[in-house]
Amino acid sequence: MTLSRRQVLAGSALVAAAALVPARAAVAPATRQSPGAYCYNLGDYQLTALYDGIWYLPMDAHFMRNATAAQVNKALAQVFLPPGVLPVSFTALLVNTGSKLVLIDTGTAGQVTDTAGFMNDNLAAAGVQPDDIDIIIISHFHPDHIDGIKTKDGAKVFTKAEIKVPEPEWAYWMNDAHMSGVSKSVHGYFLNAGRIFSDIAREITQFKPGAEVAPGIVSIPAYGHTPGHTAFAIHSGKESLLVMSDTVRNPYLFARHPDWQPIFDMDGDMAVKARRHMLDRAAADRLLVEAYHFPFPAVGHILRRGRGYELAPVMWSPL
Ligand SMILES: [Zn+2]
Repeated sequence: MTLSRRQVLAGSALVAAAALVPARAAVAPATRQSPGAYCYNLGDYQLTALYDGIWYLPMDAHFMRNATAAQVNKALAQVFLPPGVLPVSFTALLVNTGSKLVLIDTGTAGQVTDTAGFMNDNLAAAGVQPDDIDIIIISHFHPDHIDGIKTKDGAKVFTKAEIKVPEPEWAYWMNDAHMSGVSKSVHGYFLNAGRIFSDIAREITQFKPGAEVAPGIVSIPAYGHTPGHTAFAIHSGKESLLVMSDTVRNPYLFARHPDWQPIFDMDGDMAVKARRHMLDRAAADRLLVEAYHFPFPAVGHILRRGRGYELAPVMWSPL
């Protein structure tokens, strides 16, 4: 611990020495935890997991393309969860780089389910107001990731933030030609993406997955869940975090059974490939990982277990 802390401090001293003026945080780092805002350090950055809520999604017999309801219910029962319902937890990630406040995905703003929409309360608990956010990075255009950009009435929530989105995601969802023949729910996602982005289209920055999207935050193509679905790696000092976005969702189903294809993975085979690749890399390289639908605070490590993988969550700790 001492050595790595020294290394981190040495690293940050170099960064400070290189700059003409030392970086000044837009908002001071939090000094204590609150129930729905969990802060942790990554190199010189402070990260905050922001809890938005949970959705109890009913699953019918067709929910999984390649697993039976009995198999899914058995996996749920193994972790003491009732049958036929998928718990979908929502956690956005705030990154304080010291000079920029970056928010990765934006929560549901209460527009997906009554049991979610608390992200901004937890942002406030962390001492941050929506106007403080400098950059918003979007992983993909499903409603639970973009709805927080606007209120139900269409007002922008993060008035000063630059919004960056994956180029292939924009190309898919913002083109009405792609709407024909899609399922009812996917049709709804098109309408919702239009509601969020159409009138602010000129303010949106598109990035090519693979590019650095903010200081120390590199985007990673992880297509399949949606056509432009994107993960991220955050690097600060000698430390890194893999932000898996929706490559892996509820870990008791999709880390333990990475080959399962739920209907909301638009290209199931491609999503499985991305999921296996990312889980394998996380386990082999012992990476710290984060994912939007992991149980709060949605951060931990991945280990191999049987033919699948297991999440080892971090232990909650005070600052
Ligand atoms: Zn999602």
